[in-house]
Amino acid sequence: MSEQKPFTNTTQASGMDEEHIELTEQQWQQKLTPEQYHICRQKGTERAFSGEYYHNTASGTYFCTCCGERLFESATKYDSGSGWPSFFRPAARGVVKEYLDQSHAMVRTEITCARCDAHLGHVFPDGPAPTGLRYCVNSVSLQFVPGQSPELNS
Ligand SMILES: [Zn+2]
Repeated sequence: MSEQKPFTNTTQASGMDEEHIELTEQQWQQKLTPEQYHICRQKGTERAFSGEYYHNTASGTYFCTCCGERLFESATKYDSGSGWPSFFRPAARGVVKEYLDQSHAMVRTEITCARCDAHLGHVFPDGPAPTGLRYCVNSVSLQFVPGQSPELNS
């Protein structure tokens, strides 16, 4: 969906700023493992029930594998039975972007990290209250850091 960009804009990831991060495909390949690169940058999907966070019920925060953005909190994680970590809401407004995905002969809504465009998974309208949404995310796209998950607030 996004056009191939010329390799002129190669802002280095400084880690802490909130700038949009753009690396070349080559830079991403150096930064990520082959599996991470395939899923996060080439929109791959890990096998159902294979991800390391599917059964993770610990308290903490899930960060973007590619850029470290805070994406999901354990307090919004639930067992959807789908085989992938599922959340009913992102950690904050605007950290996750949505795109229409018509690949594989399906109409789905792809979700990406708003900061670095990493592919995360898809969002489906069959989640639990209070949002009714299921953010279905590859474990590989996430880095879990144990700790206290912030209180839920609306
Ligand atoms: Zn990111």
